[in-house]
Amino acid sequence: MLNAQKQLMKGLLFMKDKVGIFATDVSDTKTGTWRLAKPIVNENCKVCGICSKYCPGLLIEMEDIAAIDYEYCKGCGICEVVCPFKAILMVEEAE
Ligand code: SF4
Ligand code: SF4
Repeated sequence: MLNAQKQLMKGLLFMKDKVGIFATDVSDTKTGTWRLAKPIVNENCKVCGICSKYCPGLLIEMEDIAAIDYEYCKGCGICEVVCPFKAILMVEEAE
């Protein structure tokens, strides 16, 4: 994920005169610690890739099933909503 962010940042820096002001520091903050609910992928996953296209953090990769980078997943729940196979369920994080 962090690599994807860094690549995006490179692209933005390349055209910085056109896009205006933006943060240039890719923070390595482990944003997964902010999460209140965790997306869990189940056996219904067809590896269709739709969830990975909608995840705002580019945190889902296609392996045997969708694989979520929990170090950075903030638990927004978008992946659960967009999955057409009900293969992702949000589960409350333990206190
Ligand atoms: S959208 Fe659902 S079925 Fe498709 S890869 Fe993601 S979890 Fe799997
Ligand atoms: S809960 Fe949000 S941040 Fe986490 S994997 Fe799903 S879409 Fe990405």
